[in-house]
Amino acid sequence: MKEQVLRELAAEYEIQRAANRAEERRRLSEAAARDPAIGELAERRVELFRKRVRAAFDSPERAMEISAELRAELARIASELRARLKAAGFAEDWLQPVYRCEACQDHGYAGEPIREMCECMKQRVYQRLCSDESLGVNADENFAAWDERVYDGAPTDKSPRGQRAEMIILRDICREYADSFPNNDKPCMLFCGPSGVGKTYMLNCVAQRVLERGYTPWKLTASRMMSILRDSYFERGDPERARLLRESPLLMIDDLGTEPMQENLTITQIFTLLNERNARRAHTIASTNLLPAELMSRYTERVFSRLFDKRLTRVLSFRGADARRIRA
Ligand SMILES: [Zn+2]
Repeated sequence: MKEQVLRELAAEYEIQRAANRAEERRRLSEAAARDPAIGELAERRVELFRKRVRAAFDSPERAMEISAELRAELARIASELRARLKAAGFAEDWLQPVYRCEACQDHGYAGEPIREMCECMKQRVYQRLCSDESLGVNADENFAAWDERVYDGAPTDKSPRGQRAEMIILRDICREYADSFPNNDKPCMLFCGPSGVGKTYMLNCVAQRVLERGYTPWKLTASRMMSILRDSYFERGDPERARLLRESPLLMIDDLGTEPMQENLTITQIFTLLNERNARRAHTIASTNLLPAELMSRYTERVFSRLFDKRLTRVLSFRGADARRIRA
């Protein structure tokens, strides 16, 4: 997915650069129409630039000297251009190179000696990936917007610290996970707890942060995941999607336990997927409303032991009252 976005963006940056050059030509002809001397000076400037490059090639030993002469000449032209532009009613920088981004001059990459992706390009990649519905990420739900006030601060019998304090701990664990991704002690997490306590919101926070850091997570419901696996089993649909389920660097399965069960097919397919991902130490986060005993009876011990594999998985218990109700 990311490669495709990068290819599309490279083409867009190329178009942008062509548009910049066209804009520069348009500005020049507009200024030259008002004062022909401006056109001549601009031509002379281009000629001097060429001369400077040629000189550096032809006589490297005199390059410094020539270059100093040319620089002085260029400076003289630049100041005359500014004066004439001003007199003709243009801004002094009217004939400066046109860029949307100063840092990379619209190449998308900048830096010496190592060229890196420019911030402007990172931003575009990020926006493109976020707006891609297939990633399933809700950009409005992120760590910055996460608000502990939706949780009750008062201690209860079940939670002596209070739900708010517990949720802050979970938030910190998840943020740390996202900030360290993909170098986590345990690549997997399992969010357990009743509906409405903010598991899906937390999944989005992690996804969002991981996206910002340049990785591509994929969040989808267990039902959607099963329908992709089923399609692939019956050789229908897009085989690419099933491959992504196996290979996505961070797969987030929301609402495990709400998908329709199809005899042994569901269990076998979930088992195979988790097994394969765990063997590759791929990162997976699942959320479920089911209790461990319910998961065990629904998916059998084989799947259960993959989900709760302590060597690979950190289990987070989301407890307490429905935050959506509190918010309302
Ligand atoms: Zn840039």
